[in-house]
Amino acid sequence: MNDSPIYVAGHNGLVGSAIVRRLRADGASNLLLRSSKELDLRRQAEVERFFAEQRPHYVFLAAAKVGGIEANRSRPAQFIRDNLQIQTNVIDAAYRNGTRKLLFLGSSCIYPRLAPQPMPEDSLLTGPLEPTNQWYAIAKIAGLKMCQAYRREFQFDAISAMPTNLYGPGDNFDLLESHVLPALIRKCHEAKLRHADALEVWGSGTPRREFLHVDDLADACVFLMRQYSDEPPINVGWGEDISIAELARLIADTVGFNGELRFDRSKPDGTPRKLLDTSRLTALGWQPKIHLKAGLASTYEWFREHQGQSRR
Ligand code: GDP
Repeated sequence: MNDSPIYVAGHNGLVGSAIVRRLRADGASNLLLRSSKELDLRRQAEVERFFAEQRPHYVFLAAAKVGGIEANRSRPAQFIRDNLQIQTNVIDAAYRNGTRKLLFLGSSCIYPRLAPQPMPEDSLLTGPLEPTNQWYAIAKIAGLKMCQAYRREFQFDAISAMPTNLYGPGDNFDLLESHVLPALIRKCHEAKLRHADALEVWGSGTPRREFLHVDDLADACVFLMRQYSDEPPINVGWGEDISIAELARLIADTVGFNGELRFDRSKPDGTPRKLLDTSRLTALGWQPKIHLKAGLASTYEWFREHQGQSRR
């Protein structure tokens, strides 16, 4: 794979930038990278032209419109439209232009809101989705089904990975757009600087989430690209979850904020629990390495070095 042209779609994002770091560390010499300004993946003609000209052998499809609970709630049309457009254009153009293998990245929110915990891949489509991010989830389900359909009908080697909640360097720390972990890092940091006596945490603090460092995910993506060629999606997670209240305390400790946590129950909790069953990936021979405590410390360091430039 190392000398082949590899296209990482979404290389400026949290996941795409981690995949690029991982591939470069491995000696990949022919990475194809385009910013969204250079190539708008929502535009079919642009995507077709890019693939016809560059003919990447391998594609990591990490481009997506993503965001936290508030962004999903307030912009449902953009979440369903942009994601359907991006993934349909890229998967089809890759197939038509001789790509040997494509990895599609989904999300743990594709599983039913009240799926058995930890959630096995087979719980897909067994019950209703969490309403706050159903628009995004429906697009991601369509993406993984499209990969399965192209495998069956066209023998196109398209596989899917479903990561749990991710964090790490390059994350979005905007308070309205982001997921809980980067939002709380920023809130704690700012509360510490202001010498505030309390920190606002959305919801009740009781929902449970699982957090995986994005460098672990990138390692799993490269592993799957090399080792796995089959129809079922593969969950990628850490294997344990924690409550939002526990996460907030852990972040406060990391940042050095000693004030009180105040829970704003007017904000939504979202799905009560989201923990992936990762036994399929473990059986293939892959394990994550970066513990949450260490990952939080390095992510906080990254935030302090880059806060001026954090994406909106
Ligand atoms: P989800 O995993 O799709 O629900 O998305 P989020 O990461 O945005 O939210 C996870 C949980 O953290 C929800 O219960 C939120 O209400 C809670 N939460 C607490 N404080 C915050 C915050 O400042 N920002 C966000 N995005 N979520 C928060």
